[in-house]
Amino acid sequence: MPILSQHTQYHHVHTYKPHILTRVYSAATITTDPTTTRRKTPNIGIDNNSKKSTRSHRVWLTSGCTALLVSLAKSVVGAADTGIYIEPVIAGLLGYFFADLGSGVYHWAIDNYGDASTPVFGSQIDAFQGHHKWPWTITKREFANNLHSLGRVITFVVVPVDVLVNDPVVHAFFGMSCGCIMFSQQFHAWAHGTKSRLPPIVVALQDAGVLISRLDHAEHHRQPYNNNYCIVSGVWNGVLDELMVFQALEMALFFRFGVQPRSWSEPNLDWVEETELSSRQST
Ligand SMILES: [Zn+2]
Ligand SMILES: [Zn+2]
Repeated sequence: MPILSQHTQYHHVHTYKPHILTRVYSAATITTDPTTTRRKTPNIGIDNNSKKSTRSHRVWLTSGCTALLVSLAKSVVGAADTGIYIEPVIAGLLGYFFADLGSGVYHWAIDNYGDASTPVFGSQIDAFQGHHKWPWTITKREFANNLHSLGRVITFVVVPVDVLVNDPVVHAFFGMSCGCIMFSQQFHAWAHGTKSRLPPIVVALQDAGVLISRLDHAEHHRQPYNNNYCIVSGVWNGVLDELMVFQALEMALFFRFGVQPRSWSEPNLDWVEETELSSRQST
């Protein structure tokens, strides 16, 4: 269970967990004149046009879904042919749990390292930084717009496996984990939704812990901005945060390569949610 989940409201008083690192939570960065330090709007889709799905968004999402369906079909057909059913089911469940861990590691990496100019991942890094500043905009993005980047990745990763592998257990694990990762951005968007506006089945799955809950993900958008990275079910968040796994990785990378993660010197105007910042500046 996430360590800060004792909170019962979405936005309110922060609780800071004890930390092994001396962080630079510079109040000065919060109170600095935003007109001089706020960077230009990142590529997250603040204007309506950039939140709409384009033809290429739909093509990449469709290709990702097709690759996943082929994997699922090969798993089902392979299970029927061999009479092996329990193993693929267990493999699928493991894939679902693995996807949550994978989503956390990937989210942590792009939140903390690189920038918009980073090859391959630059646009994702920029979009996630923008998401911290304008979290609510993810709920305004159309379905394919939100998922197309992962749809493209999943297409390139899953198609070779579809072609080369026939093992139903491998397809169950791989298809389930890749499917959950591809749809993690939709689960993430639902975690930013308003309960009354979400489909009841989504709310039920969030409340059951099958999908990342609104309350748990809200902690990611609060200080100290270094926890609750997993966005499929969130089942790994508690153990990763309690054991300070990401902080340990950050220390290891720092001592090995001398690179500091963004979270060591945040929050600044790039990470703090704009509405939160406005309320702080007015008090
Ligand atoms: Zn983040
Ligand atoms: Zn979020």
